Amino acid sequence: MQKVILHIDMNSYFASVEQQANPFLRGKPLGVCAYLPKTKNGNGCIIASSMEAKKVGVKTGMRISDAKKIYPGIILVQNEPSKYRSTTEKIFSILAQYTDRVEPYSIDEAFLDMTGWVRELPQAELLARQIQRRIKTEVGDWLQCSVGVSSTRFLAKFGSDVAPKGGVLMVTPDTVAAIFSRVRITDAWGIKHKTAWRLWRLGIATLNDLRRYPVANLIACLGKPGYYLWANVNGVELSDVATTPAAPKSIGHSYCLPKRTDDPAYLRPILAKLCERTGRRLRSQNLEARGIFAYCGLQHGHGRGGSKRAAEPLFTTPDILRAANALLFSRPLPDAATQLAVSVTDLQPTSGQQSLFDDILKPKLLAAAADRLNDKYGESTIASGAMWGTTDNAHDRVGYRKTISIPASPPTTVYIPE
Ligand SMILES: [Mg+2]
Repeated sequence: MQKVILHIDMNSYFASVEQQANPFLRGKPLGVCAYLPKTKNGNGCIIASSMEAKKVGVKTGMRISDAKKIYPGIILVQNEPSKYRSTTEKIFSILAQYTDRVEPYSIDEAFLDMTGWVRELPQAELLARQIQRRIKTEVGDWLQCSVGVSSTRFLAKFGSDVAPKGGVLMVTPDTVAAIFSRVRITDAWGIKHKTAWRLWRLGIATLNDLRRYPVANLIACLGKPGYYLWANVNGVELSDVATTPAAPKSIGHSYCLPKRTDDPAYLRPILAKLCERTGRRLRSQNLEARGIFAYCGLQHGHGRGGSKRAAEPLFTTPDILRAANALLFSRPLPDAATQLAVSVTDLQPTSGQQSLFDDILKPKLLAAAADRLNDKYGESTIASGAMWGTTDNAHDRVGYRKTISIPASPPTTVYIPE
């Protein structure tokens, strides 16, 4: 049976959510920043720009100072992850009403496997438009998404990537060649410049060239990745919609310091906060870590840091902080710090093993109790003294790749295309 896959991608998501929340920001070039600069010449970068900002040339990832040069009237707001998460939860709960197989791919993207819920692609296209309308009426009229409809994850994602903003694009065996001919090879998911260059040397300049290339030759020249490329553009499914997310390889947080200094009294509490965020995510997934990585960027020359294997698995925030401190601050910094980063690696499920020694178990129970309190009453309801004075630093952030879980109950209503 032919599969029916939808890929939904919210457009300019963080900025649109901000414009949804504040009507005065709508229709205006807006940049969502990691943090707002404290002084006139403060640094920082734009982590999401509104559609209007993109039109005047302010792109995501741009430094605030550069954005102001391009468009002095740009409006800046500081990001507020809880707003995006709660909006995503509302959107994903609508998606979960259409199929029992939803894969949250990031904070603003999801795959829906609608095989069995609809008979063919055109029906799914109608439902895609219904989903777009429902997001506007039930979540917010300023929120729009692009949707790709096809028979594989790759082609559905490709469809939403090249669809007009707020549109639906169906990619079928009959239309794929025409759609491929309209775009560049690097517009396809996973084909970056390096791959494009390798393909170019084989005489493959377009997605249609790739589609028609003898697969045996591709495998001979590029190995397994050659087969994956060929399969993707020929509508061969390589991976199913994953309703349970894969376990992460590492968990970490980083922070660009608004104040450049080598003062440990300023840096240590911020490191503690990054370790707490890391620890919270580690524990919420019932994982413990065997390795630690910590890095401190310096104003001049190379940064300091590295990775280390932990003697005992890391689980509590003090465990992580102790290991990170040892990597970074065992001797004075030679220069002002610009950035702090910490991550735990080599993750494994918690052993749950009852330790013979009470003093090993107690910190774990304490960490779990503190996490429950912070889950219920908000971040930093209870915090270690090591984080004292960091309210304005290292705010909660949300990565695009971070996903949101959706309600597990299967859909109760079957939506019929209108
Ligand atoms: Mg998006």
